[in-house]
Amino acid sequence: APDLQEKVVNLCRHRGFVYPGSDIYGGLANSFDYGPLGVQMKKNIQDAWWRHFVQSRTDCVGLDSSVILSSRVWEASGHIGNFTDPMTVCKECNSRVRADKLIENASDVTGITEAGGLSCEDIDALIAKHELNCPSCGSKQLNKTRLFNLLFRTNMGSTDETSEWVYLRPETAQGAYINFQQVVSTMRRRLPFGIGQMGKSFRNEISPGHFLFRTREFEQLELQYFCHPNDSDTWYLIAYKFNYWVDECYSWLIKHGVKESNIKKRELAHYARATTDIEFLYPFGWSELWGIANRTDYDLRKHMDASKKDLTYQDPATKEECLPHVVEPALGTGRVLLAMLLDAYDEEEVNGRKRTVLRLHEDIAPYKFAVLPLQSKGEIVDVARTFYHALTKNASCDFDVTGSIGRRYRRQDEVGTPYCITIDFDSIEDNTVTVRDRDSMNQVRVSMDDVLTGKWKGFE
Ligand code: ATP
Repeated sequence: APDLQEKVVNLCRHRGFVYPGSDIYGGLANSFDYGPLGVQMKKNIQDAWWRHFVQSRTDCVGLDSSVILSSRVWEASGHIGNFTDPMTVCKECNSRVRADKLIENASDVTGITEAGGLSCEDIDALIAKHELNCPSCGSKQLNKTRLFNLLFRTNMGSTDETSEWVYLRPETAQGAYINFQQVVSTMRRRLPFGIGQMGKSFRNEISPGHFLFRTREFEQLELQYFCHPNDSDTWYLIAYKFNYWVDECYSWLIKHGVKESNIKKRELAHYARATTDIEFLYPFGWSELWGIANRTDYDLRKHMDASKKDLTYQDPATKEECLPHVVEPALGTGRVLLAMLLDAYDEEEVNGRKRTVLRLHEDIAPYKFAVLPLQSKGEIVDVARTFYHALTKNASCDFDVTGSIGRRYRRQDEVGTPYCITIDFDSIEDNTVTVRDRDSMNQVRVSMDDVLTGKWKGFE
């Protein structure tokens, strides 16, 4: 399986999905730039998420809050005080090691699969007892574990004297809480309702790695779903909503091409708030893909206390007031993009030759169509170009005139294009084209109009 990760990383690099960051200057560790195909795929994921969790729901609205918020937000939310991971530093090679992961990764000897709730002392005792070593150099000489704050700090202001420390957001969620009242009043929202946000977040991760899985700069797709903490049946109401969102996330993943056999739910007991992770079987093991947390009224209450602003919700009919509880499904864009690529990657033998194909869902694949004129000059190309321009109004398409048709098919298979459309001499006469299916490699003759208008619905 580690082989698969390597193949996907290589494909990403050579086919314009993801490039190593700051490459011409020797690179910046664990940072990446999305290339032309990667950015289109990322946008397709964001669009699919937005359509499902925001646009198509009468009970959800969108928001785009700032990356830099007042420091008071992060004080109130507890991030300045508590947004920490336990870290130890190797005395030998100086590398920074996430101590809880060290314990979890050695679960066959420590017996601990969930180290999130352990204190630094507990961790140090376990490291000593089981003689765990540095993952980089193998040394057993590790410094005492201490808590390391993950917030990215920078300063705002023009001179040293007047500048102040500010923090880049480590999650988009707080933007929804501090705008909660605005959304309720300007959008006349009634409980339950959700606020969806997508955008960059930053964490000074102790050990980033595994390609897009853990980076210091990443993107999130987050929904804060505000519910009534009904006195008598709070638990049932929240639990119901909670499972409901886990199921929504689960089926969204499967619908968009993640294999059911590669995801599982995992309930995390050690957190103060109930959390269910949807884990994905990455080549390096089961790891969190989508976290669904019951955040209760914790954040709103903290902001109400700190800002001295009334953030309670008043029911317009009964005038009853309450502080809503929140269920949050939080997904990392890079993590889900990686999961989709890993599950789509396939190699097979066709007529004695290896075919690499990305079986991406057609809403996710960077190009939906590739237009391939059979000749590189003349009327065929003119017709193909006109057709391509009409097609791009509704879908992302590639246009390729170079090389044999077989080679062009293979290039498109490798980047996951579901439909290749060839334009030939007959196309000029009767306005029909040949469409080839990426997965079955079957071909059909269809009218150009039917492809353009969407009347042609694809294979099957
Ligand atoms: P982990 O335990 O893997 O560090 P977390 O529990 O800290 O993750 P959350 O705070 O629940 O993560 O963040 C919500 C989602 O954001 C995660 O499920 C993940 O998909 C994504 N995410 C978090 N940190 C990163 C990161 N450093 N790089 C990429 N995606 C991330």
